[in-house]
Amino acid sequence: MTAVAFDYTAPTTVDDALRALHAPGLTVTPLAGGQSLVPLLTRREIRPDVVVDLNGISALAGIDVGPDRVRIGAMTRLRDLEQHAELARALPVLASAAASVAHPHIRVRATLGGSLCHAAPAAALPAVAVALGADVVLRSVRGARSVPAARFASGAGTTVRARDEVLTEVTFPRIDGLAYEFSELCTRGSTGYPVVGVCLGLQVADGLVRTARVVVTGCGPVPARLPGVEAALAGRPVTGPHPELVASVAREAARGPGYEDQEYRAEVAGVLLLRALSARAGREGR
Ligand SMILES: Cc1cc2nc3c(=O)[nH]c(=O)nc-3n(C[C@H](O)[C@H](O)[C@H](O)COP(=O)(O)OP(=O)(O)OC[C@H]3O[C@@H](n4cnc5c(N)ncnc54)[C@H](O)[C@@H]3O)c2cc1C
Repeated sequence: MTAVAFDYTAPTTVDDALRALHAPGLTVTPLAGGQSLVPLLTRREIRPDVVVDLNGISALAGIDVGPDRVRIGAMTRLRDLEQHAELARALPVLASAAASVAHPHIRVRATLGGSLCHAAPAAALPAVAVALGADVVLRSVRGARSVPAARFASGAGTTVRARDEVLTEVTFPRIDGLAYEFSELCTRGSTGYPVVGVCLGLQVADGLVRTARVVVTGCGPVPARLPGVEAALAGRPVTGPHPELVASVAREAARGPGYEDQEYRAEVAGVLLLRALSARAGREGR
């Protein structure tokens, strides 16, 4: 199958892209790495009047590691997140989660902004952005606004982005005292799509968990924090065994509005949490 005919424009500035997107009465779709959009086009699941290609806008790409915040342009490729040495030191979980996505030939095209805007329920980077307390910056001809990553995805494949807004950058607070791990289960085979994932943030003192942050993916339409599990982790030794945590994650994650295999997914999330805990304990040398 091929896409329906559409007009195509390739602006080189953000302002030109915003003007192209602001076209009342027309369906105008931004194109980033195309890894999700192009299959949707060719299967005719979307039929835009105009495609606005963001690839020529150099101002939308780049990684700036500041003392308090890391700013990442929406068009930054996942491969660049994975290979940026300064980013790997500042936010190692972001680099490792980017590296977990599919194969290198997908990651050289796929972008951070595309991953967040596509909002697949089990995707890695939206979950990590929620766990790290990131903010998403959106611009349109009306101005700019910032939305917490935790409120950006509004459902499976949908976000609060207005049709004429471009996601321009994502900002991550640099120091929150927690160290993070990302662990996921993917489908087998060459595509390796994610099924369930867990992003765990821990602050540990004297071998005990002081603060925990737990975000699960693939157990509901959007990445979700599990406050009950976070509370249950506080005060525990970081080293296991913690078999009851699997049940605790399963209970909380299974409450999401359901997949047919919701119970299985929730149980997998519990096992992934144990893996993340064990990886953290290993890194802390315990
Ligand atoms: C074979 C395969 C395996 C994959 N495996 C994984 C995996 O293991 N883990 C995982 O997390 N993901 C996985 N993915 C998903 C992949 O990460 C996404 O396809 C990719 O992140 C989408 O980014 P993109 O830059 O290609 O966006 P595009 O496909 O170009 O766009 C996606 C959507 O976002 C919109 N959009 C893009 N950028 C912007 C912007 N700046 N502002 C406003 N709207 C925008 C587009 O209009 C479109 O609706 C896989 C994909 C494939 C094809």
